[in-house]
Amino acid sequence: MNEEHTCPNCGGTLIDDIWETINTSADGSYTIHSYLAKKCLLKCGYFTPLIKEE
Ligand SMILES: [Zn+2]
Repeated sequence: MNEEHTCPNCGGTLIDDIWETINTSADGSYTIHSYLAKKCLLKCGYFTPLIKEE
């Protein structure tokens, strides 16, 4: 049993995904952060980023 791979909302399968955020600074520079995330294969909208420090 591995419940971490099952959607808590609908019971669908969770897949690995990459979530990217772009942070823009006041001086015009920007940094891109990529996170590993879990996303539901079904359309319930469940999505959870797995934040980790690098
Ligand atoms: Zn779901």
